[in-house]
Amino acid sequence: MPLIIVVGVQWGDEGKGKVIDLLAENAKVVARFSGGANAGHTVCNPHGKFKLHLVPSGIFYPHATCIIGNGVVVSPTILLEEIDQVRAKGIDCSKLKISTRAHLVMPYHVLLDQLEEESRGSKAIGTTRNGVGPAYMDKAARLGIRVGDLLQINELLDRLRFVLEQKNPILTKVYGTPPLSLNEIYEQCCWFGEKLAPFIADTTPLIPGALEKGEIVLMEGAQGALLDIDFGTYPYVTSSSPVVAGAFVGLGLSPARYPIDYVLGILKAYTTRVGSGPMPTEIHDETGRLIREQGNEYGSTTGRPRRCGWFDAVAVRFSHAINGFSGFALTRLDVLDTLSEVKICTAYKIDGDTLHDFPSSAALLEKCTPVYEVMPGWQTPISHVRRFTDLPKAAQAYVTRLEELTSCPMDIISVGPEREETITVRSIF
Ligand code: GDP
Repeated sequence: MPLIIVVGVQWGDEGKGKVIDLLAENAKVVARFSGGANAGHTVCNPHGKFKLHLVPSGIFYPHATCIIGNGVVVSPTILLEEIDQVRAKGIDCSKLKISTRAHLVMPYHVLLDQLEEESRGSKAIGTTRNGVGPAYMDKAARLGIRVGDLLQINELLDRLRFVLEQKNPILTKVYGTPPLSLNEIYEQCCWFGEKLAPFIADTTPLIPGALEKGEIVLMEGAQGALLDIDFGTYPYVTSSSPVVAGAFVGLGLSPARYPIDYVLGILKAYTTRVGSGPMPTEIHDETGRLIREQGNEYGSTTGRPRRCGWFDAVAVRFSHAINGFSGFALTRLDVLDTLSEVKICTAYKIDGDTLHDFPSSAALLEKCTPVYEVMPGWQTPISHVRRFTDLPKAAQAYVTRLEELTSCPMDIISVGPEREETITVRSIF
């Protein structure tokens, strides 16, 4: 199974970091293909606990080349801090490669993200305000600065001058803030270029090179499919394509020449969402609070409390339809340990009708109410369990029902944050 793509199935924060850290042991290449520092992957392993926003979760294995692909937008300050954070624990970062084609998140992107969100008032998207959306906007508007530009500093000055001529009037005239200084930004860029130079490369040959040798490549998604710019709950979405198809664009790989061997969907045993947007199974009572506390459901990038809800099989079926998962890694089953009953949303009700398909409109989804199936809880700790058949019968029944409702096998079940707190039902290699 050399080419494996790992994708978040729901609204992100499913525990991709843990699973990728686990799988990376077998991989020669681990490559991020979308998103920016708005994604936060938490990894707990023998080196410690790490919050990674840009560095691929395979960095802890010295044999793995870690790629930040062209589909990612890179915040240089955050990336350099992260490199320092892992290096401080003795981790070698020499195999980290950043695509020359990845776009940079510039200081004006961060500023504009904050100003735009504030100006939206109650209609705010709930972005992490660290410039990711505006960087993707500039990429599409052909106003972006790419990582490779940091190495062409003479041309960069002209390019920055041109871009600031577009940005400064927006800052001063629309938002009434002071203009940005060309020289300051240019000097910052020169410094970033010096620091990042050892990592910058044309990364496109690396994955084909590994696959030709039969080596295992993990393509690492960020966020989740229901936040996809096309297929998510627009406009409450991210600015990139975290779905499977995005991996090929975001890394420059031919799906015809290198077909996927396995698509792993990471999904939580319940649902969470950060920021605004419809979430039919959100729990507003004490149970929602309990899941948040048990699961420590606070954003790893912003610390914001996550909205918690029951497992939404309608949403997951849609995600499966657009991604074609080979199997799921079900995470955080242990978070439900204390509950006397667990619910699964099997359909929605809207204006008296029953809906089995996920609507394409956020406004429609907002009006949907969940139809629940209720199952008994297991009320026993399960983090020590390593075999499916050793799970309490009620937990087994819950997992089996999720498989039936989503038509996809649970090949991995995660019962705690640590590497070893994992049940491998079927090896994906
Ligand atoms: P990601 O962005 O998908 O990697 O998800 P986050 O890092 O935002 O959230 C995952 C969090 O859940 C991290 O703190 C992990 O350590 C933790 N985690 C992962 N799997 C499990 C699990 O099975 N049980 C529990 N209790 N925590 C888990």
